[in-house]
Amino acid sequence: MHATIVHILQRGAFRYKNVGKDSEGRFSCQKCSSSYKRKTHLIRHIDYECGVEPKFHCDLCSKKFKRKSTLSTHRFLVHRVH
Ligand SMILES: [Zn+2]
Ligand SMILES: [Zn+2]
Repeated sequence: MHATIVHILQRGAFRYKNVGKDSEGRFSCQKCSSSYKRKTHLIRHIDYECGVEPKFHCDLCSKKFKRKSTLSTHRFLVHRVH
């Protein structure tokens, strides 16, 4: 297993004890409606996305994104720039 994931899971024993599967077998965030197939994805969401201010701004339309990759995709799809 990847070292970072092991680290997250060890930390999660304390912090994410309420994280569990919902009725559809998915891991849902209790703060928002996001749900994930994998627990590690939900933990990543809680750590890096949920309640985190978007850091990446599109300089062409001033939309904000939480991930650089999402901004890149947006720029390419909407503005046709790389
Ligand atoms: Zn959330
Ligand atoms: Zn834009």
